[in-house]
Amino acid sequence: MKISVVGTGYVGLVSGVCLAELGHTVICVDVDTAKVDQINRGDSPIYEQGLDELLQKNLGTRLTATTDLERAVHETELSMIAVGTPFDGRAIDLSFVRQAAEMIGDALKTKSAYHVVVVKSTVIPGTTDSVVTPALENASGKKAGADFGVGMNPEFLREGDAVADFMRPDRIVLGACDSRSHGVMRQLYEPFTSANILSTNSRTAEMIKYTANSLLATLISFSNEIGNLCKKSGEVDVAEVMKGVHLDKRLSPIGENGRRIVPAITTFIEAGCGFGGSCFPKDVKALIAYGQSLGESMSLLDAVIRINREQPGQIIAMLKKHFHSLQGVSVAILGLAFKPETDDMRESPAIPVIHTLVEQGARIHAFDPVARNEAKKLFGDAITYAETLEDALADSSAVAILTRWDAFKRLPRLVQAMHPQPLVIDGRRMLDKKDFDRYEGIGMGERS
Ligand code: NAD
Repeated sequence: MKISVVGTGYVGLVSGVCLAELGHTVICVDVDTAKVDQINRGDSPIYEQGLDELLQKNLGTRLTATTDLERAVHETELSMIAVGTPFDGRAIDLSFVRQAAEMIGDALKTKSAYHVVVVKSTVIPGTTDSVVTPALENASGKKAGADFGVGMNPEFLREGDAVADFMRPDRIVLGACDSRSHGVMRQLYEPFTSANILSTNSRTAEMIKYTANSLLATLISFSNEIGNLCKKSGEVDVAEVMKGVHLDKRLSPIGENGRRIVPAITTFIEAGCGFGGSCFPKDVKALIAYGQSLGESMSLLDAVIRINREQPGQIIAMLKKHFHSLQGVSVAILGLAFKPETDDMRESPAIPVIHTLVEQGARIHAFDPVARNEAKKLFGDAITYAETLEDALADSSAVAILTRWDAFKRLPRLVQAMHPQPLVIDGRRMLDKKDFDRYEGIGMGERS
């Protein structure tokens, strides 16, 4: 198929590159000229494992980038809207989606062939039918369901594993206004012969995306609340507690070989210093706002957000147990982005931790294998940035792990070579207490 993807952020660029790799011809469109030029040079504006290679492989043959949306719509059969939907504190900001729909509608005015417009951005239930479709109809002077098709296809990829997730999806949800649009959208995903495809209306597709993210965020806040309780109660370790919980056959069923099937949900019941990123916080808040606009209190999800907001404070509390004052204390922060394998700093727990430490006079030496440049935009000269793990540790009195990078598993050997050893604060529970003289872990009570 010939596809145009509007918006070349994490979702748009990964989708565009992967759809080209699957054999489609893709035109990526963005209003940001610098991004378009960078993509056309074969250099991805974002860091994602494997993305540069696939971009370079398909560029110029099945993949191009442009700022000319009208030409892209005219030359393709389907347009995907993958622009941002930020949360403005009260509701999601649909201005980018509305603008993209108007621009596509404008281009459809002069296009006679049938075209399908698919919303890939995460939008609150009802947006495709009551915002995108009217914008397309008004701008084009044509009728959805007759002259052109409209659909909603939420994206479930995870940053850090975006290419792999796109290429091996757990499920593909296709919402559409009519069977013809559904048919065209199915054609797009034909190469995924073994994926679960769920066809719904657009409103249901929109709700599935929010519900999925809200459930995962709820599990994280639940585990963090239990972890904080374990820490206070003493001689209890949340990691052991969750292992015990997890062995319930309703959570980990026994497979045909007699062994437990370990579900992927495991990582969501590990306590840590909180969730971040561009999706979980924004999507849960947007669902709360949507629910409240319909008179639902959404009190469970409200608590999920509150617990998550407070969770980075656990790192500060663990440091303060060991230092009377943080003034002048040299702290190595390991991990800046909200998760490993990405440079995305949006809503990362590292942000409140670093701001609080700087306010209290600590000297921060930070290290992240890929997020240094993004972090510099946020913290500037307020902290220093290490090139290597060794460099970050030098002269530190305390080390705080905020992102679960595999590279940090080298920490025991490096810390054991230091005299005196710094205090290690494990915000992701990835190391063994026994390897250190002084260790504090999230959810790990005294003497546990
Ligand atoms: P992003 O902010 O990284 O990228 C958005 C891009 O859209 C930017 O490059 C911007 O310049 C461009 N843009 C804005 N208006 C435009 C217009 N009128 N025409 C062309 N380009 C335009 O956003 P993202 O992280 O890729 O997220 C996009 C959507 O996908 C959001 O709704 C998000 O919630 C959802 N989503 C994101 C993820 C993720 O992991 N980031 C996962 C699933 C779903």
